Amino acid sequence: MKKTVFTIATFALATLLPAQQNQDHRLGYDDTPSYPGSKWKVHDSKRPRPAMVSASCNANTVKAPSDAEVLFDGKDTSKWVTPDKEGKPGPVSWKVENGYMEVVPGKGGLKSKASFGDFQLHVEWASPAEVKGDSQNRGNSGIMIMGQYEVQVLDSWDNPTYADGQATAIYGQYPPYVNASCKPGEWQAYDIIFESPKFEGDKLVKPAYVTVFHNGVMTQNHEQVLGPTLHRAVGVYKAHGDLPLELQNHNTSVRYRSLWLRRLKGRQE
Ligand code: MG
Repeated sequence: MKKTVFTIATFALATLLPAQQNQDHRLGYDDTPSYPGSKWKVHDSKRPRPAMVSASCNANTVKAPSDAEVLFDGKDTSKWVTPDKEGKPGPVSWKVENGYMEVVPGKGGLKSKASFGDFQLHVEWASPAEVKGDSQNRGNSGIMIMGQYEVQVLDSWDNPTYADGQATAIYGQYPPYVNASCKPGEWQAYDIIFESPKFEGDKLVKPAYVTVFHNGVMTQNHEQVLGPTLHRAVGVYKAHGDLPLELQNHNTSVRYRSLWLRRLKGRQE
């Protein structure tokens, strides 16, 4: 009798368990919340994945303009720290060699010593030529603007994943308009224009906006950032001022060879 009850209970449980228990999360989720006003869930598995366009790959490095702050030139990591578990700044934990720095899985991310508000940022990066892993576990890093608004870095060459997690996605919020990715191992460029959120006291008076060019192709066009970017959750703005830039360690190898930033001060009137 006990066995029968157990069998019936097991059968009932298996029948009643939501479908997402069996879902392949490499392609997204069906059980996540939505941002207010969005018809898509965060990492929605049904959200259309952007079409590929061929772009300029393995281009020469772009020289920093004279009014830029060079954050990394292929050798010098002095503008960065790796925070320890308590958030205290420690020495940079990434490997630096041959004109690039490379994420060391499990050894933390990078945080700029300086803080920034509105800016134009140029980044050159490459995922490993040898493909390991898939979906979000393949060449995943991130440009963590103000430590909380992520422009996704991901090897998105023939690598199915959820649309809002692709290269240059505003993670969990906006897929890129198109997928302008290069092949694994090839150098790629991001050009990001960021307008920081503005607060009066605790109140948000202007959200952040992000524009992104991926290998010269526009993939985000003055998109309104909906809050901090989170995995499987909806982020809510919390008041802050200028903050450091961070580079994500997602426990997969990614190389960076150039980062420079121009603080945006507006037109001279
Ligand atoms: Mg990432």
